Amino acid sequence: MKPTWPQRIGRRLALGFGALVLLLLLALLQAAHQMHLASETSGRFATQDMQRLLRVQALSMQIEGVGNAFIRLLNAPRNQRVAEYTEVDAQNHRIDGNLASLDDDSADTALHAILNNLRASRARYADAFVATADEIEAGDTAAATRALHTLVNPALQDMLVHSNALLNHERQKVEQELADAQAWHERTAWAMVWLAGGLALAAAWLAWRTTCSVVNPLNTLEAGAGDIAEGQYDRRLLATGVTEVDRVAQALNTMAEAVAQREAQIKRQAYEDALTGLPNRTFLLNTQPEPDNPRNTLALLDIARLKVVNETLGFATGDSLILAAGSRTRQVFDTLADTGVIHQHPIVTRLGGGTFAAWFGVDHRQQVNTLLQALVGAFQEPVSCSGQWVDLSMVIGLADLGETGINLPVSTLVRNAEVALHAAKRSAQPHAWHSDAQEAARLGQLGLVSDLRQAVAHDELQMWLQPKFSLATGQPIGAEALVRWHHPVRGFVSPADFVPFAEQTGHIKLVTGWMLARAIETLKQWVHTHPSLSIAVNVSTRDLQDPGFADRVRHMVTSSGIDPTKLRLEITESGLMEDARQSIALLHSLTDIGLPLSIDDFGTGYSSLAYLQKMPVSELKIDRSFIDRIDTLPGTQQLVRAMVEMGHGLGLMVTAEGVETEAERATLQALGVDVMQGYLGSRPLHGAALQTWLDRHTPTAS
Ligand code: C2E
Ligand code: CA
Ligand code: CA
Repeated sequence: MKPTWPQRIGRRLALGFGALVLLLLLALLQAAHQMHLASETSGRFATQDMQRLLRVQALSMQIEGVGNAFIRLLNAPRNQRVAEYTEVDAQNHRIDGNLASLDDDSADTALHAILNNLRASRARYADAFVATADEIEAGDTAAATRALHTLVNPALQDMLVHSNALLNHERQKVEQELADAQAWHERTAWAMVWLAGGLALAAAWLAWRTTCSVVNPLNTLEAGAGDIAEGQYDRRLLATGVTEVDRVAQALNTMAEAVAQREAQIKRQAYEDALTGLPNRTFLLNTQPEPDNPRNTLALLDIARLKVVNETLGFATGDSLILAAGSRTRQVFDTLADTGVIHQHPIVTRLGGGTFAAWFGVDHRQQVNTLLQALVGAFQEPVSCSGQWVDLSMVIGLADLGETGINLPVSTLVRNAEVALHAAKRSAQPHAWHSDAQEAARLGQLGLVSDLRQAVAHDELQMWLQPKFSLATGQPIGAEALVRWHHPVRGFVSPADFVPFAEQTGHIKLVTGWMLARAIETLKQWVHTHPSLSIAVNVSTRDLQDPGFADRVRHMVTSSGIDPTKLRLEITESGLMEDARQSIALLHSLTDIGLPLSIDDFGTGYSSLAYLQKMPVSELKIDRSFIDRIDTLPGTQQLVRAMVEMGHGLGLMVTAEGVETEAERATLQALGVDVMQGYLGSRPLHGAALQTWLDRHTPTAS
């Protein structure tokens, strides 16, 4: 219930305590009044009633006294009678005065009757006195004595009787008054007890009401503050009717709103990606599976070559690319959800960098194919970033719950999709599914690497060479050494299948050592036949982490006597970046030997061009994902042109990998690329095929 007007705590307290003081004052006044009445009663009693009683007693004595005076008068000699008369007169006078003073105007009829009797007997006494005095003065003592006995004495006796009656009456009256006063005092005492009790109760009630009216609103406040502390920001503190409390409640409400807003903002920041406005990884990993909306598939979409875009065209362009990729992905999923290809409410998130994750539900894998087609369509259009067009190329890793249909946690799906994404990148496919078979193969490969030691010892490995050509002259300048493994049981094993795992386990060092030995052997053979050709050997990150690596290479090179400038080492940019400072030192010890160095797979890793500047490298090998169909992709051409310019700016030779068509070659040549490598020039060669090629390309000069 809303109070009619808000009250202040001060006013409430003042009212409560004011009422208490008023009650106390009333009680004090009442007590004073009662005391006053009591003193008045006792005063009246002392001054009036007791005096009256005394006067009545005096009256009796005066009546007796007048009788005696009369006898003395009767017997007195004539010369003394005057004095006796005076005495009797004085007595009579006192009796009359006393009688007159006893008269009052009260309604006491009994009193009046007694007083009337007294006055009547007084009158008879007066007559008797006159008659007796006449006899005395006549000198008839006998007659006087007779008159005394027959007239005066009966009259005086009568007066005495009435005066005694009056005394009785007055005594009874006083006793009655005393009893009344007693009763009144008792009543007053009780009244005071009741008053004190009532007052105590009223005071207690007032104190309780006042306390409640202050404490209850404060308790409401306290509970409200507790609710806010527990995060119930939508609970509003209602008006309590107490101004101060309501002001605090208002302040708490405002605070709760502000805290709620801020918490929502923090939540948004925690769960939302700032750049795209999409939910982020935290949101995805915290989303619980919904039984009525089973999301069974997770797609991981990765913008290819984002790093290069950032490095060459700037981060603003990279951000535009991410924004475009995010909004196009979101659009594709929304459209497909609306048209029923996938289930409603797919979750599209940005995991970081150029990687997005979409978690959604489908009835058949067939529908995912429709989705992939839609995505390819959406990414076909290049993205316009501040006046230039950049191609948007996405690699997609897919994972689902599989045939078991067991509800895997979303984190597992993300990990599986990551495996699939890497597989897609390795095989240069636009997308790949994670499958149990893939997982088994992965585990199988891990088993395989342990066989590598055996392979190295038993020469199960082969070195194949893929020629590289100068784009300016069309002449071969050298070759890249690529390992091949003929496993006695599994047959041919692709390096893409075992190199990454051998790198993980460290077995790659064996491969590198073996390949370096073969390359040096071959270079020794070429000293006379093909002195201009160099061989590039792939070096892994693990080799670079080995402090003895440079010394071993130095020993191999010096003991073989080959020209160190003909042995090139290819290092992937991601490998360099793992520990850039240490890498740079090691690279210097390699160039000290005289070996030229190349950055491999450029554009796929996360290297910073600022670091590249400090690397003693002489060749930049642009990854083949940039070269694929470059003649048809103006945006990619722009990227590659920027890479070439930067490479040349750093004094590097720029090589394009994976050139397969004449159109690609022509485009690359136009873009200023120096060297090409790829199936167009030659596939990797070995044995007789290599010999034939070498024979065909024997330099005419030597
Ligand atoms: P990579 O260093 O980028 O080697 C180039 C790969 O591209 C080779 O695959 C080669 O056969 C392939 N290739 C060359 N021209 C073309 C083309 O025109 N089109 C297409 N689609 N592919 C082309 P390969 O031999 O399967 O090697 C795969 C990867 O395995 C290599 O990529 C390299 O990273 C690694 N690898 C190969 N041999 C060695 C090695 O001896 N040591 C180390 N550490 N890694 C090696
Ligand atoms: Ca390579
Ligand atoms: Ca490469």
